Amino acid sequence: MPYRSGPGQRAMAGKRVRIVMMSDTHEQHRRVDVPDGDLLIHAGDFTYFNRSSHAVQDFDDWLHALPHRHKVLVPGNHESCFGSPQWRDQITGAVVLVDSGIELAGLKIWGARVTPEGAGAIGNETDERCGAALSQIPKGTDVLITHGPPFGILDLARGIPQGSRKLLGALRHIKPRLHVFGHIHAGYGTARSRGTIFVNAALAGPGYSITKGPITVSFAPTDKIERRNRNEHNGP
Ligand SMILES: [Zn+2]
Repeated sequence: MPYRSGPGQRAMAGKRVRIVMMSDTHEQHRRVDVPDGDLLIHAGDFTYFNRSSHAVQDFDDWLHALPHRHKVLVPGNHESCFGSPQWRDQITGAVVLVDSGIELAGLKIWGARVTPEGAGAIGNETDERCGAALSQIPKGTDVLITHGPPFGILDLARGIPQGSRKLLGALRHIKPRLHVFGHIHAGYGTARSRGTIFVNAALAGPGYSITKGPITVSFAPTDKIERRNRNEHNGP
């Protein structure tokens, strides 16, 4: 089975799950006002080019202190070190997904290593490697997390789409109920297409300061999404 079962799986079964999403906090995580919820997702770039292990430790301490029952992290291109399991093991306050999955709160969650070409490691520099990461995503995935966006969806930087065409193509087959990403700070927001809710949860704005708030959705394991895009701080 590609999905291992996480703790508390039974207790949450059948209950509505409130998902809190963020990415691109770039060492500014303590400035984020985090709404309460059952599942917290961080879609990467929690450091600034992994310049300090102190920042990683502080981020992990912060994760531990958050009250959410389940926490999942997918590293971004700023966490290029996280290609190595030794770095990943420094995070104990969240489940770290790198081309792997877990079932939590009745949802099958997969983290795939996809960041647009040219962004740096913990992404896939070539179409071939990106294709390999995408081909591992199991059918029946409810929540897909990638650091980078798919092409044409919440991926505009200075008017130019930056997302992955391969990822967009793969989504037609995977059809997740929710796809969470970041990377393109200007693409923050939500969109809906073909039964999938897309969330670009990048909180950083110009100069890597936090200018936006986490995005939440409320979700029953067997229902459609009930409520979406409750932005707590939808700043500029
Ligand atoms: Zn990034």
